[in-house]
Formats: sequence, structure tokens, C-alpha cells
Amino acid sequence: MAGVKVGVVPTMGALHDGHISLVAAAEKVCECVVVTIFVNPTQFAPDEDLDKYPRTFQADLDRLSEHQVEFVFAPQNQAMYPEGFSTMIRPPVVGQTLEGESRPEHYEGVTTVVLKLLNIVLAEFAFFGQKHFQQAAVIKRMAVDLDLATEMVVCPIVREKDRLAMSSRNVYLSATEREIALSLFRSLCKAESMIRQGVRDAQQIMTAMRDELLGSGVTQVDYAVVAKVETLEVMDQVELPAVLLVAAKVGQTRLIDNLIAE
Ligand code: AMP
Repeated sequence: MAGVKVGVVPTMGALHDGHISLVAAAEKVCECVVVTIFVNPTQFAPDEDLDKYPRTFQADLDRLSEHQVEFVFAPQNQAMYPEGFSTMIRPPVVGQTLEGESRPEHYEGVTTVVLKLLNIVLAEFAFFGQKHFQQAAVIKRMAVDLDLATEMVVCPIVREKDRLAMSSRNVYLSATEREIALSLFRSLCKAESMIRQGVRDAQQIMTAMRDELLGSGVTQVDYAVVAKVETLEVMDQVELPAVLLVAAKVGQTRLIDNLIAE
């Protein structure tokens, strides 16, 4: 559409206020907002939750109808991955650690689907959440490396009142697990406060994050790190700004969160 700024908000549906904040950000800078809803099978490992991932399509449409959304693109798997599909993006180095280590094929699926969606929608702007900090870094790098014309915009994390980062996966949590899940943000706050107090030994901070998580009853810590904002390399000595990132399993549910220390 000539002269009209198009913004795309890629999602997997089960929309919550975090997604809606991206829609609101898009509405501010774009005349035409496109929301995509696609539970992308190529970013799930065989043992992950693809089948039980929440799908609330009608409720999603109802929520979006309250906003200035011109198009909702919700393709079927067949339309995105027809018979014979075999081209995949090899993600940039920034995607190899952390999530890339815990979920080896995840970013291959993410970059491939995002590139496909950008090619289909041809948006000037694409909106992503800081909630998936590494994903945003991966997509920004892909945009530079592959000369994409779309500008990537990263929006702040939206949290519940008790500061749990909103996630479509929070519906999996029992009441007890939801309490335990609060330890993700607590561990980030603890790390931030240690940094504020002048602690510069990153290992000491990462141990404290891990202790907070395990002491609160998480089932498994995938990572709890202090990393460089641009490259996501784990630091030895804290230099600001730094990004604090955690991924942990609460019961069967894998949750992630992060905080920037400046
Ligand atoms: P998902 O549907 O989980 O794939 O997320 C779609 C987009 O919404 C991604 O760019 C996410 O980073 C973003 N998002 C998810 N949760 C939040 C949140 N709590 N705050 C801000 N953005 C979010």
C-alpha cells in the first residue's frame, strides 16, 4: 500500500496484554497494523508443547477488534509449510547460546517463520517484545545480515500485578507453581540489587540468581546469567549495561524472563 506505513506484530496467539502492548505500539507509528497468529511448528522440538499450546482464536479476534488492526493473518500449517518445503535460515551467532543451547533448533524455526511472515506482509515495521530478549537480538541481526527492509522495534516486558512476566504459557501453572514462578523475577531483582550495591563478580551474582530459583522450588534452571546486551556473551566482570536473563522449568512449564541493568 503506497504511502501507508504498515506494521506487523507476529504472535502465536493466546493473546494477553503483552501482545496487545505491541499492537498499541504499532498503532502509534503505523496506519495499517497487521497481526499474525501462527503457532509455528518448526520452532518446537518434538518433546515440547506444540500440541497443547493454548489456542484461543476467537477470543484473540475479539481482543484485536478493540484495536485499529486492519488485518489478522492466521495461516494454516499447510500454507506456510507446503509439501516439499525445505529451506531454513541458519540463525546468527547471537542465537547459539542460552535458548539456542537449551532448545537447539528453536531459532532456526523462529528466523525462518519471521522471514516468511515479513516477506508475506511486506511491513515497514515489525514489533517484538523484550520478553524474548535473545529472540529480538537474533531477529535484529538477521535483518542486518540479510538486508531486510523492515525496521525491528522492541517493546518493554508487560508484567502481571505481582510482576510475573505475561506469557501464554502461564495458563499451564497451578496455583502453587504460579507462586514458584515469581522467583524468576525475584532472581532478576536480586541480581540487579547486587549490581547496584557494587558487586562486579558476575559468577557471584549468577550463583545468587540460581540459588533464588532453586531455593524457591523451580524444577530446573536452564540458565541464570549476566550477559552483554549486544552479543549476549556471559560476563566475568559486570560492565553496565548488562542484561540479566533466566530460563527455568516450574513443574513441566518452561518460563523465561530478563531485566536490563543500566
Ligand atoms: P509469542 O506469542 O509468545 O510468540 O509472542 C509474540 C510476541 O509478543 C513476541 O515478540 C514476544 O516477545 C511478545 N511478548 C510475549 N510476552 C510479552 C510480554 N509479557 N511483554 C511484552 N511482549 C511480549
